Amino acid sequence: LAEVLEHEQDLPSRTPDGHDMPLMVNTGLAVDAVASLKTRISGVGLYRTEVPFMITERFPGEQEQTRLYRDQLESFAPLPVVMRTLDIGGDKDLPYFPIDEANPFLGWRGIRVTLDHPEVLMVQLRAMLRASQGLDNLQILLPMVTNVDEVDDTLKLIERAQAELAEEDVVVERPKIGVMLEVPATLYQLEQLAARVDFFSVGSNDLTQYLLAVDRNNPRVAELYDACHPAVLAALARLAQEVAALDMPTSVCGELAGDPAGALLLMGMGFDVLSMNAPSLPRVRAAIRRVPLASAQALVCETLRLATPGEVRAHLAERMGEWQ
Ligand code: PEP
Ligand code: MG
Repeated sequence: LAEVLEHEQDLPSRTPDGHDMPLMVNTGLAVDAVASLKTRISGVGLYRTEVPFMITERFPGEQEQTRLYRDQLESFAPLPVVMRTLDIGGDKDLPYFPIDEANPFLGWRGIRVTLDHPEVLMVQLRAMLRASQGLDNLQILLPMVTNVDEVDDTLKLIERAQAELAEEDVVVERPKIGVMLEVPATLYQLEQLAARVDFFSVGSNDLTQYLLAVDRNNPRVAELYDACHPAVLAALARLAQEVAALDMPTSVCGELAGDPAGALLLMGMGFDVLSMNAPSLPRVRAAIRRVPLASAQALVCETLRLATPGEVRAHLAERMGEWQ
């Protein structure tokens, strides 16, 4: 199917009724393969920096990280590249930094780890800022934020990194900074978070896991893990309205954005950007090019009335069939 849709891939991601839905790509490794998509996307919506950390034997140093980040930023410039600070813990362990916990997904993860180890975070922030010199397409995203304090503490470290570099004559603008909305608590602190940062990005994978209390990697409960659960969709729909009222640019970078039906729902809800793995782009673009925004909005309303994940799935399958 991807090949059938190949001819559409250079066409705009625009609905038949003229709504532009910017698509971005999620990256981790292999810049080259993805950089060839540059003309077809609006940027990198999520660069998972932990991925290169997983294949080294120790924490990469500032120079090494600067090279990696420069490579990403240069490959996509002038398009924005959203770099997420190290998101380890949960299911992502570094061999040289083992974390052994009974409940890793509720434990030491993401920003919790890097704020406890500011020496690790500072090297990463300095490398990101250094890499962005002269390009100015860097944006920094903070994972697993639960408390507003965590954002304040990180902002101070970013300022400090910027000041340190300025003393070394590396002068860079403050990049745009964003918070991942993936811990349910953040959905109730949108206003406080919006006052501190420039954008939000919804991590629908973790948000689903935490809203449903279902481990996203446990096969025994895999059937319960469903981003199309009515409660998850209701939370997302409300979130989209609230961030719009706050005027906060908000993207979705979890797997739901890379599913054609999920992408239509998110577009109908009003999210600004969808970011996905490169192989998902053709089918999502095709769906957007075939379904008017008004129909996607109607789909959201119809779906929000349903009571079970099964009903939602069946309804989406039926509608998607009509739009083939
Ligand atoms: C998410 O949680 O949806 C997300 C995009 O981040 P990750 O899958 O890396 O946790
Ligand atoms: Mg996540």
